[in-house]
Formats: sequence, C-alpha cells, structure tokens
Amino acid sequence: MAGMPRPRLRRPGDVLLDVEACGICGTDLDILSRPAGHPCRLGVVLGREFVGIVCEVGADVKTLRPGDRVVVEADVPCATCRWCQRGLSSHCEHFSTHGIFVDGGLAPQVAVTARACHRISHSVPAHLAALVEPLARVVNGARLAAVQPGETVAVIGAGPVGLLFCSVLDLAGATVVAVEPSPLRRSLALTMGAVAALDPAADDVPARVLDGTAGFGADVTIDAVGSQLATCLGLVRKGGRVVLVGVAAGATTQVEQGRIVRDEIQVMGAYLGRHVFPSAVRLLEQGRLDLEPMITHRVRLEQLSWAVERLRAGKAAKVIVELQ
Ligand SMILES: [Zn+2]
Repeated sequence: MAGMPRPRLRRPGDVLLDVEACGICGTDLDILSRPAGHPCRLGVVLGREFVGIVCEVGADVKTLRPGDRVVVEADVPCATCRWCQRGLSSHCEHFSTHGIFVDGGLAPQVAVTARACHRISHSVPAHLAALVEPLARVVNGARLAAVQPGETVAVIGAGPVGLLFCSVLDLAGATVVAVEPSPLRRSLALTMGAVAALDPAADDVPARVLDGTAGFGADVTIDAVGSQLATCLGLVRKGGRVVLVGVAAGATTQVEQGRIVRDEIQVMGAYLGRHVFPSAVRLLEQGRLDLEPMITHRVRLEQLSWAVERLRAGKAAKVIVELQ
C-alpha cells in the first residue's frame, strides 16, 4: 500500500489500530472478481477479518487504551435504523462495513469505532485471532442448530466456514461427517474433527450417512456452500434441523417441500455472528480448537495477489496476511 496516507482518527469514538493480521475471505474474492461479485466502495482498503493493537484512542473512548489487543466486528451497525431499533442489528440498513464501505484491515493501520472492538488475549497467535469473525458466524450457526453431545452432524462444504464447523462441533461432542468435492479440503476436514469426509462425486453420501446413524439420518445438516438445501434435506432425519450458512449469489434450489412438513424439519438461516463475538474470542483463548491446519498460507501484503490466485485455483484453504 505504498503511497497511501496513514489513517487518521476522524471521530472521537474511534481508535487507531496497528493491524497484526488479516484473513482473506470469500467476500474479498468476490469484490476482486471482474465483474465484481459483491458491491464495494471504490478505493476502499479490503479486509474484513483482522486483529490489531490499539495505538491511539479518540477523546471519547473510555473502554480501550493504547496497547490493548482487539479483534473487530467488520459489520458496524448504525444503531438508529428501524431494524437496529428493533434489536435486529444483524439486519441494519446502513452497515458501515470495514473492507466494503469503509477501509478494512489489509493495511498496516486502520481506524475503527471502539464499539466494534473486542479485547483478545495476547496469548492467541495473531494468525489464529484473525479467524474470530468467521468463527463467530459458526458459533451463531451452531447455537441455532442447538447441537447436542452425541448427535451426528453432516457439514456440506469444507471451505473455511465448513472446517470451523467441523472443529467446533467435534469439540461440542457431535459426530461430524463432511461432504466436499475437493481432496485438499476433505483431508483438512478429517484433520479438524470430521470422522468421515465424503466425496459427493464418488460416494453414495445418503447411504453413508444412513449407515453411520443406524438408518435415521443426520440429526443436523449444515449448508456451508449456499446452494445445498436439497442435499441437506436428503440427509437430515425426521424432526432434525437444517442450518443454512453459506450464501451463493443467485442460487435457487428445488426441494420437496412436503418433506419439511411431514417430517417436521426445522430449516434456519444463520448469517452474521453479531452478539457472539465474545464467545468466539473465548473459544480462541481457551486454546482447545486446533485451527492451525486450515491456515494453509501465511503471507506478507506484497504476496496478496499470488495468494488470491492460489485461493481461486483451489490450492489454499485460509490465507492470512501478516502485517507486523
Ligand atoms: Zn441500523
């Protein structure tokens, strides 16, 4: 980012961060596609998943001091729109989202509002702390699914979010089966908590899931792709839960709706991880999740375009850019 001016504190409630690390997410790839697959303000610094050290605080900031280490909720709600007023800030109409509408974490420094910051222990390595945003989404999805110890969960898609589900749900006492076409990602799923990783092109996935559940089907199925509702319904047991987490722009799916009714299946959407950031931070601080395997690449900012190509070619899982 040579030649870019050092960010300045413009509002008294802001803090300036020295960014330690920033993850590359699917939204970044969509923005960098031509034509762009996601809206973005022209000239904005990308990067939605970052951790940093507070180096300067605005006059009104009472909760943070220089030296504090924080992760940031990239989607900052306005707090005044009709959805925010109803307590549904995940559906704010005027998000000022870092890395999309305001500058994000792919730069040595970034200014953020103090209310979007959550302290995180210095004991968590920066490249792992940068995973807190997708981890918060996964915590939110896992809570909606109400997964119980001893249950079986089928996770469709073993990209970064699917892999985080494998790890979190394994820790929660579930038996996790991943379904993923990429050999790299299947192997990562097995390393990160899945007891089986099935290839939808080669394996009879419904038969394997029935075999593994005494003929009942999975208690919970999770779509971490964004287009797999029909697959989820084909694997879930009667009375089970389907949680849709991924978003594939424009995806439409035909399903047998009567199955949802007759078999009393709950289908839920889970989007942002607002309100569970502190839990995601705590999970990382506990150190019981082994998330190292999913970080296939730790790179410098200068290697960003190379890393993006690796991601596009399916040769990387999670890429973390280290800025210090
Ligand atoms: Zn709002």
